[in-house]
Amino acid sequence: MLQLFMPLNFMGMVYREIKQGLTDIERMMEVLEKNPEVADKPGAKELKVSGGAIRFDHVGFAYDPERVILKDVSFDVPAGKMVAIVGPSGAGKSTVARLLLRFYDVTGGKITIDGQNIRDVSQHSLRSAIGVVPQDTVLFNDTIFYNIKYGRADATDAEVYAAAKLAQIDDFVRALPDGYNTMVGERGLKLSGGEKQRVAIARTILKAPPILLLDEATSALDSHTEREIQDALDRVSKDRTTVVIAHRLSTIIHADSILVLEAGRVAEQGTHGELIAKNGLYASLWARQRQAEKAREELAHALEEA
Ligand code: ADP
Ligand code: MG
Repeated sequence: MLQLFMPLNFMGMVYREIKQGLTDIERMMEVLEKNPEVADKPGAKELKVSGGAIRFDHVGFAYDPERVILKDVSFDVPAGKMVAIVGPSGAGKSTVARLLLRFYDVTGGKITIDGQNIRDVSQHSLRSAIGVVPQDTVLFNDTIFYNIKYGRADATDAEVYAAAKLAQIDDFVRALPDGYNTMVGERGLKLSGGEKQRVAIARTILKAPPILLLDEATSALDSHTEREIQDALDRVSKDRTTVVIAHRLSTIIHADSILVLEAGRVAEQGTHGELIAKNGLYASLWARQRQAEKAREELAHALEEA
C-alpha cells in the first residue's frame, strides 16, 4: 500500500507544484530528465543498511567531460558518525551530496554504503535510506500537518506531533489560529527560512532514515533561530550516519571529522582542533568567519547605541 501510495501521490504533486512554479521540484525533474543514464541495473537488489557506513573510494566526477569537478576524492563516514564537508564556494560540496543520492553516476572510483556499490542497488532503496534536510525546503500547498506527515505516509497523528516537538516547531504551530491545519506554501502562510527548515527536520525525524544528509542554509540566521535549529539537528543526527555540508563553521566544531574540499580535491581532513593546529586552509576559513562574525556583532552594537 505504502509502495503504491507514495509514487502516485508524489507524481500528482509534481504536476501540481510545477504548475504553481515551485522551482526546486522543477530542478529535480530537470535532473531526472537530463540523466536517463542513471538507471537501475536489471534485477538491481535492495540496499541493505546495517550501520550506514559510507565510503567514497577514489571518486572522480564531471558533469561534462570537458570539465572535471571531483578528482580522486576518498573519505569514510563510519556508521553512526558525523562528517562535515566544508570549502570555498564551487569546491564541489553539493556535487558530493548529489552523487551520494545517485542523481549522477561517478566517472571514476566508487561510492559504497555498508560495502554495497550504490550503482548496484535500486535507486528507490538508496533514496529511502537517506534523509535529506535541504538548504531550501519546498513546502507543499497543503496543511502543516500534511507537510510533516509526508515524511512517512503511515505515521500516526501522535507520531507527527512528537516529530514536530523534537524539531522545535510544535509550540509555533499550536499558537497559530488554525494550528496544524494551517495552509502553508506559496498560497498559504509564508514561513520563515528557519521555520521551513524545522518542518523539514520534523519530516526527516518521522522518516527515521539510517543516513542523514544536511545541506546547511547559506544565509545568516539570527542566533536564537540558529540555536533552535542546531538543537533539532543534534537530536536527529544522534546515532545516525550524518553528512553535513556546512557553511557556518561554528555549527560543525563537534563533527567527528571535517573534510575540506578545494577545487574538487580533498585538501585537508581532521577534527576541528587538528585542522586549526595545522594552520592551513581550514584555519584560514575559520579565521575569516570569526572576523566576519565579530564585525557583524560590532555593527549590531553600534546600531543599538545610535
Ligand atoms: P559547492 O557546493 O562547493 O559550492 P558545487 O558542487 O555546487 O559546489 O559545484 C562544483 C562545480 O560544479 C562548480 O564549478 C559548478 O559550477 C559546477 N556545477 C554544479 N552543478 C553543475 C551542473 N548541473 N552542470 C555543470 N556544472 C555544474
Ligand atoms: Mg553548494
